[in-house]
Amino acid sequence: MQLRIPGPTPLPPQVLAAMGRQMINHRGKEFSGLIQQVIGRLQTFFQTRNDVLLLTASGTGGMEAAVVNMLSPGDPVLCISNGFFGDRFSDISRAFGAEVTMLTFEWGKPIDVDAVRRALAQGPRLKAIQVVQNETSTGVANDITAISAVAHEFDKLILVDSISGLGAVDLPVDRLGLDVVVSASQKAWMSPPGLAMISVSQRAWEAQAKARMPRCYFDLAEAKKFYARGQTPWTPAVGAAYGLAAALELMAAEGLSPIVARHERIARKAREGVKALGLSPFADERYASTTVTSVRVPEGVDAKKLLQVMYTDHNIELAGGQQKLEGKIFRIGHLGWVNETEIDGVLKALAQALPRVGYVKTPVSR
Ligand SMILES: *Cc1c(COP(=O)(O)O)cnc(C)c1O
Repeated sequence: MQLRIPGPTPLPPQVLAAMGRQMINHRGKEFSGLIQQVIGRLQTFFQTRNDVLLLTASGTGGMEAAVVNMLSPGDPVLCISNGFFGDRFSDISRAFGAEVTMLTFEWGKPIDVDAVRRALAQGPRLKAIQVVQNETSTGVANDITAISAVAHEFDKLILVDSISGLGAVDLPVDRLGLDVVVSASQKAWMSPPGLAMISVSQRAWEAQAKARMPRCYFDLAEAKKFYARGQTPWTPAVGAAYGLAAALELMAAEGLSPIVARHERIARKAREGVKALGLSPFADERYASTTVTSVRVPEGVDAKKLLQVMYTDHNIELAGGQQKLEGKIFRIGHLGWVNETEIDGVLKALAQALPRVGYVKTPVSR
């Protein structure tokens, strides 16, 4: 079975083997050595000297940590959203009492940076902006370089969800001055679900000390305090940490630039491949994600049936559309442990599956 959804992703044999190891004391020397090595490597892939903390949670837990550690109830925040996960980020802020201003864009289209500038100019009290770097629901990669520049122009904290980006994309956290950046183990990191990673800038720590939203399990000051001893405040997902350590060893051997280049190549192959089948990519191509490719379901084709045929006849599991995109798009996840041959296999299978669900490539006119 080829799991081609945008997380969880297939795991390399070295990672699977590492996860089969016996448990160790999470307050012992061996674990502190492991977590320190993991954090050092995560800093390389985040391109940061900021603190990077490991939380036992899925990515959403990391998003919640970003919100509750940076904001106080009543704080005005600008939530920029062009998809399902951008909306989720705003839901979390609202749940904890932030005063949310939404800036939304059509799903499949990128964030318009000029609109962000206008929103910030009109909202002088805004404390922070929240944004998703790689919008997994639509396959759009937002221009964080430009967005962060505007955030700095107006001196706002910038909280970034790069849950399905980091580990596969070039996101220089320090160069862009990103205050809080969240990722998660089961996306581009070739690792099992269970761990969220979060980087925290100096400016973000200052905000953290003043932020008053309720927090306990996700208190980043606690996480930092325990990390100084090579520990986490609460029992971490030790098995997932074994997996992540093994994956990062492979990633360190491959190197950041080659990994980024591999994802770019593969994404191009996926996009060009679906176009060659006569299908249309859903995301604005200038902003196409390199970790997930979204494709419009062609007229007359039932998306569910197509994914079912891919699964039963070709052993390939693709993802459908989420929420309002259900039935309208399908998505090919290509992040983490993935190569070109596998994408060729997906394209070949699509070529066979599509006619079986009623797709006719080009209307033949004679
Ligand atoms: C997967 C994902 C999330 C949610 O992560 P969970 O691990 O499912 O909680 C949030 N944002 C983005 C962009 C994602 O891809």
